[in-house]
Amino acid sequence: MSAMLSAVHGPDTAAPSRGPAGVSRESLAALLLDLELRTADDFRSVAGPARRAERTARRHGWTDLEKRAELVTGDVLGRLGRVAEQGRIAKSVNMWAEEHADRYLLARSHRLLAIFHRCLGDAAEALTHAAPGAEYADAAPPLIRASHLITLALVLDVNGSYAQAHEQFAAALEIATAHDAAPMEITILNNLAFTAYENDDLAEADALVARIRSIAARHALVLDGLYLDTMARISLGHGRPAEALEVLRPVLEDPAGPLVTEGDALPECLLTAAEAYRSGGQPEQARAALDEAARLAGERALAGVAARVHEARAELFATTGDFPAAYAEYRLFHAATEQLHSAQREMRAHAAQAVFETAEARRATEQFRQLALRDPLTGLYNRRHVDEQLERLVETAMRDGTTLSVALLDLDFFKRVNDTFSHGVGDQVLQQVAALLGTAVAEPALAARLGGEEFVLVLPGTDPATAAAFCEQLRRKLRGHPWAELTGSLPVTASIGVTTYTGGTTSASTLLSLADRNLYAAKHAGRDRVVHDASRR
Ligand code: GH3
Ligand code: MG
Ligand code: MG
Repeated sequence: MSAMLSAVHGPDTAAPSRGPAGVSRESLAALLLDLELRTADDFRSVAGPARRAERTARRHGWTDLEKRAELVTGDVLGRLGRVAEQGRIAKSVNMWAEEHADRYLLARSHRLLAIFHRCLGDAAEALTHAAPGAEYADAAPPLIRASHLITLALVLDVNGSYAQAHEQFAAALEIATAHDAAPMEITILNNLAFTAYENDDLAEADALVARIRSIAARHALVLDGLYLDTMARISLGHGRPAEALEVLRPVLEDPAGPLVTEGDALPECLLTAAEAYRSGGQPEQARAALDEAARLAGERALAGVAARVHEARAELFATTGDFPAAYAEYRLFHAATEQLHSAQREMRAHAAQAVFETAEARRATEQFRQLALRDPLTGLYNRRHVDEQLERLVETAMRDGTTLSVALLDLDFFKRVNDTFSHGVGDQVLQQVAALLGTAVAEPALAARLGGEEFVLVLPGTDPATAAAFCEQLRRKLRGHPWAELTGSLPVTASIGVTTYTGGTTSASTLLSLADRNLYAAKHAGRDRVVHDASRR
């Protein structure tokens, strides 16, 4: 499994990395792949492990794995009916994946967004995610790829693109068969069989059911309620109600048994059974089955099932000649359907809002993050940002054996500007100095205000001579700036101390104190000058 994953994630999974708790990145990735593959068949059993995997990944700083775990949780939440939460997770991971150009997470998050929009009944929007969900999965492990093709097929189906849906199902089936993934094969064949039944192609439906049965037998798999329901409907399509009831018997005899894992499996089977009883001339049994389906629908808040129970009762009453009762039930069916649609609209609006807020919050957070790194007076980076960046740049320089220069700049006799004019004029001077510094440096170099009238320049990859020349040029530019408009005859100058890392071991604080020592020397030697390491020797 991990070999397949490293093909997805590239070189960063190649070297085993082990966290303090002894969990390796590879083993966590393999666990996640297992959870990702299991959600379709057995979503309840993945919830706990997914939460634990998320915490483990976060503790180790394996953010991509953390996001994968979040998506598994999002999948489960949707199946539990917590659709808005699912949408929010899918959206936020999708934004992260885009930012980090992570193909695997792009695939996974688009797939979940497709499921989310399909659940909300927005078929077109679902398709705009299902397609990239399948496309980005092109280098993913085969069974993941197959599951993304299944999602695409289901979404194409609700869009009415039956031929294309069939094509995607067929491609997924080929992968599932090649990898002997029997539960996935059965899922796909079940979908194909149901579609064939809906298109009145009963011969095709029969052939598909035969394949399902033979795979189940070969792998000793017990077919659960949803599959039996498809088969029973096909029997009904053939006009064989007794056969339909025989197919459903394991569920009807043991309604609390292991065959009804999904919340709506049992009531669906009961609806099918009621139709079989009705067309088989057993109205009493039909009524009992519908009463039980209604009870379950109420208990589990299955509004769609509840509505269809009314519809089935209307048909049942009509069969027995009780037309007033049939009409009353038909009106209930109509009202329930209306209510269902308005509830769906509301849920859709609510969930769409949640997803929108995620995107907004993300933008706001990024804005706040940027603000937190900036000095409010000048807009330059602040000390906090320098502290963060300098650590990182020092590590890079030591690792790669590159040079790194750090310059401290302090305005000369700045107190006089404040005292002679005003604090406001002083502020304007600081802003103009900051602007000069800002335009003088370009990525990866950076300029920041450390506080007061003190600034720092960090110049990666700059050797001592270049750094000294750069600082000298800057000093001249500063002194030559048309300050008279602000400060009249009072000049604005700066002293600069610059140091360069050229090898060995150092740290951010060492470089800053070496630069500070040179700055002190510049002040001491009369200000308005640059002191570098060599000029001190
Ligand atoms: P030196 O050449 O030795 O650096 O002299 P100096 O006057 O620049 O040094 P000193 O550290 O004594 O004074 C710094 C002054 O900077 C003191 C303070 O009034 C002023 N200052 C610090 N922060 C700000 C600010 O945000 N705005 C303004 N206008 N002045 C500030
Ligand atoms: Mg000063
Ligand atoms: Mg100072």
